[in-house]
Amino acid sequence: MSFDDRGLVLPGERLATEEEFISSANTYIENGQIYSAIAGIVTVNEGKISVHNQNKEIKKLRRNMLVLGTVTDDMRAVLFVKLDNVISEGKEYKALKDGKILLPKERHGPERGGFRGGQHRPMHDKPHTPKPCGVGDVILARILGEEDDTYALKVDEPETGVVYAVCEVCGGELLENGRGDSFQCKSCKHVEYRKISNFYNKPKEIEDALTHIEVGR
Ligand SMILES: [Zn+2]
Repeated sequence: MSFDDRGLVLPGERLATEEEFISSANTYIENGQIYSAIAGIVTVNEGKISVHNQNKEIKKLRRNMLVLGTVTDDMRAVLFVKLDNVISEGKEYKALKDGKILLPKERHGPERGGFRGGQHRPMHDKPHTPKPCGVGDVILARILGEEDDTYALKVDEPETGVVYAVCEVCGGELLENGRGDSFQCKSCKHVEYRKISNFYNKPKEIEDALTHIEVGR
């Protein structure tokens, strides 16, 4: 088992089981599981697992931060996003969980018991509302909140939304339509509807936005 791709771990992060390794420096055991006691780098040596400190300050991603990620799965009502770690001003913000974007509810056909009379609907049902992002898109998103397994994300601000994408038909370059709601493929003219960030294809602006993740809202 390799920890090379584990990178940084945080206090309380589970590392391995007691059967796999001997708990060593900066780790502790609870119910047969070995956990990290500090933020640092995992080292395995002769069956001993330990965690070593780094000078870099490590923090968790928090509510209201901007994050960069790649859309990995498109379920009917939710998009899953693999988040990148963010390094800003000597601090590393670690994405311990995936992100998700909940999509506005659409009509799912009659439920048991039929029409839900009298139920207030805050928004008009739009049966064919395009999804804000597609699988493979790189997006800038804001963290709405942290849940057990995921960060809830939103992409409804001008700077959030798709920042890199290619045509899902031919892999060609996508050009913005100028209204922030769709692309057209330069090669095959296929049109894709997306929530496009102001920073689409602007790596410098994206980097700046991530550098100032703690500023603002
Ligand atoms: Zn195309």
